[in-house]
Amino acid sequence: MKGTRIKSVTVEPVNIPLHEPFTIAIGTKYNIENAFVTIRLENGIEGIGEAAPLEPINGENQATVLATLNSCREFLTGQDVVHYRQVSKHLKSVFWAQVTARCAIEMAMIDAFTRSLGIPLYRFLGGAEESLETDYTIDIVPPDTARSNAIKLKNKGYRTIKTKVGKNLVNDIDRLLAIREGAPDCMLMLDANQGYTGPQAVHFLNELEKNNIRPEIFEQPVAKHDLAGMRFVKEHTSVPIAADESVFTSADAIRVVREGCADFINIKLMKSGIVEAFDIAAIARSANIGLMIGCMLETKLALSCSVHFAAGLGGFRFVDLDPHLSPDQEPVTGGAAFTDPMYQLNAGLPGIGVVRK
Ligand SMILES: [Mg+2]
Repeated sequence: MKGTRIKSVTVEPVNIPLHEPFTIAIGTKYNIENAFVTIRLENGIEGIGEAAPLEPINGENQATVLATLNSCREFLTGQDVVHYRQVSKHLKSVFWAQVTARCAIEMAMIDAFTRSLGIPLYRFLGGAEESLETDYTIDIVPPDTARSNAIKLKNKGYRTIKTKVGKNLVNDIDRLLAIREGAPDCMLMLDANQGYTGPQAVHFLNELEKNNIRPEIFEQPVAKHDLAGMRFVKEHTSVPIAADESVFTSADAIRVVREGCADFINIKLMKSGIVEAFDIAAIARSANIGLMIGCMLETKLALSCSVHFAAGLGGFRFVDLDPHLSPDQEPVTGGAAFTDPMYQLNAGLPGIGVVRK
């Protein structure tokens, strides 16, 4: 293929205020503070990538991402996107701690490559599925808000509601009861974001059982490096346990498999990058560990890339790709078409299919 060398690289910040602050067990976000990287090939085709850093998760923020992306510009210029795996490997060897910045570069390269091939990204990845149904997350909010949000979500067609737990046992249970009252038929997913110790997590699940609440999945009950604690939880419940913050790399996935501490691995492109996510998915599949896909605070660009990834590979049992921005706030259009709660990828647009507004 000719003309697939990178001619220019543009880096820009993406700042969008959130309608509602987003609170998890380890902090609150008021704005999306991401970055876009656009690469232009010799053939005139452009590819766009997004970095969505979240300090407590991956140790990066917008300032470090912009600095990393800018310091990669000279290296990237002249590289051929056909060799995106080699470029990715090289960048990992240098910027091993800047995974969201590397993810943005991989996204832009793979977008430009598949646009040059003229095929949608999910087809390039295998085209296993053309649609995905996502859950929606209710944040750590008072029970009345949780109940009314649950009713709204149920009426929009959501069948799975996720909520964050791990800050306060009584408040967590009150919120879950309110969600169930608002949407009694919806399945529940819980995410403790490392908030408990092993015994606390088991106590929490026992208290839920007393209230007849059985989640479909319980994500990251304990600290990310406490795989023994995670195994303790798994051994004391029949609720499936998902490793999220515990798995950033394929080596992490191997450790989770060896430890036998999780039933699912939550893959997020912003934790591993795209190329490494292929390996994590393969490891999970080989070990009979279920697949989940999640996201950070991302625009439609990175979300669409995750939809292509999960639909292309197929077999993702849990999809947690709920958008945080309304369409008018989005800096891009196109990509995966979204109508609550479904993503559709059959428009046939090449690459990720996203264009700047
Ligand atoms: Mg999580």
